[in-house]
Amino acid sequence: MKIAIIGGGIGGTAAAYALLQKGHQVEIFEQAPQFGEVGAGIQITPNAVKAIKGLGLYDRFLTYAFYPKAVVGRNWQTAQENFRIDLGAEFREHYDAPFIHIHRADLLDLFVKELPPEVCHFNKACTGITQSGTTAEATFSDGTTVTADLIVGADGLRSVVRRTLFGDGDLRWTGHQCYRALVPTGGVVDYVNPDSTFWMGPNSHVVTYYVKGGDMVNIVAVTESSEWVAESWSTRASKDEMLADFDGWHSSLQDLFSRVDEVYNWGLFDRDPMETWTRGCVTLLGDACHPMLPFLSQGAAMAIEDGFVLGEALGVFPDDLDRALAAYEKERLPRTARVQLEARERGRTYHLPTPEEMAARDAEYARLQKEDPRKTGINTDWVYDYDPRQFAKRHAVLDEIAS
Ligand SMILES: Cc1cc2nc3c(=O)[nH]c(=O)nc-3n(C[C@H](O)[C@H](O)[C@H](O)COP(=O)(O)OP(=O)(O)OC[C@H]3O[C@@H](n4cnc5c(N)ncnc54)[C@H](O)[C@@H]3O)c2cc1C
Repeated sequence: MKIAIIGGGIGGTAAAYALLQKGHQVEIFEQAPQFGEVGAGIQITPNAVKAIKGLGLYDRFLTYAFYPKAVVGRNWQTAQENFRIDLGAEFREHYDAPFIHIHRADLLDLFVKELPPEVCHFNKACTGITQSGTTAEATFSDGTTVTADLIVGADGLRSVVRRTLFGDGDLRWTGHQCYRALVPTGGVVDYVNPDSTFWMGPNSHVVTYYVKGGDMVNIVAVTESSEWVAESWSTRASKDEMLADFDGWHSSLQDLFSRVDEVYNWGLFDRDPMETWTRGCVTLLGDACHPMLPFLSQGAAMAIEDGFVLGEALGVFPDDLDRALAAYEKERLPRTARVQLEARERGRTYHLPTPEEMAARDAEYARLQKEDPRKTGINTDWVYDYDPRQFAKRHAVLDEIAS
């Protein structure tokens, strides 16, 4: 099958690799002059690691990895632990995959290095899609076009493919903005724990974790803002602004923030879940169809899962694109919709404004943790438990039952 992927981010490149592996003729059309990710970290949870295993890229993936010891929730002022999910051997065995921290550029590289150069086209900004019979055509801003049996819109939050197919309305400004920064430490230091740490305070939270094998600490510091803040990986903010917004927070954070060199500002947007992602022989993937708040650390994970499952679906129904796309959507849409909505809910619970509400939340976290050490109030068990490698098997069983 001839497949054109619009957008060469983490989702588009992962999908390209998955589809090439299945023997399809794949091309990526990226608007930028080259592939590129910003200088920031990303957490990759076991569910997405299972897709990476399914793609056969696990060993190389691990060479980029930092293994956090635990996911830990802390009080913003006292650093008291509110919950702790141990990420050691028992966790890895239970989910059949680890929880990893990685630099974004390394994650993108994982997929890009596997793509033959002739597959990748740059400076190709898609401006629209048309369909006729069993093929679709993408048009680019330079006037060129490409025709394919399947077009996949992996063009991110402001997807042109989505807009062309569905008309997409406005992005929802969530009222959250975040500072993000990387601090070189040259190794694990005493004022930053080797965990994925969630510091929760009134109307704000901060996530800190190591990347680059432990040589850098990634900071995502989220506050609420009544003013609209642009969504951009390149808008600069100042260290003083960040320090002022987190005045009174624990000294370890102040210490870390004071070492920041460059700070960026990012407005957080999302959308409601869609009813369908597919029209004819065009479908969507990643942020294009399920943009979400980053509070469950799942946007890239969902995009990787999407790419893997799309490859599997075309493998299960090699001669029936409609059925393959229907199966892809049936598998992916409900899961990603739930993650979108749960991520939104975390925006509320992480930011409870009063000491009483925070204390009640933390007591509930403790109660849940007692019930099941993997559970806690952030409730990620169902997210990590998913195994995209089981998609084909699940389908075979369901088909058998249906017939
Ligand atoms: C602060 C923050 C922290 C996050 N942390 C995590 C985390 O820890 N774990 C996690 O899993 N996720 C995380 N995410 C989410 C994650 O970054 C995104 O969900 C993920 O990058 C989406 O990948 P994508 O490939 O779908 O879209 P994108 O990365 O946006 O890629 C889209 C690509 O399409 C290209 N493009 C756009 N328009 C066109 C066009 N018209 N024509 C051609 N090309 C086009 C773009 O140039 C880009 O290369 C976080 C997000 C934020 C903001």
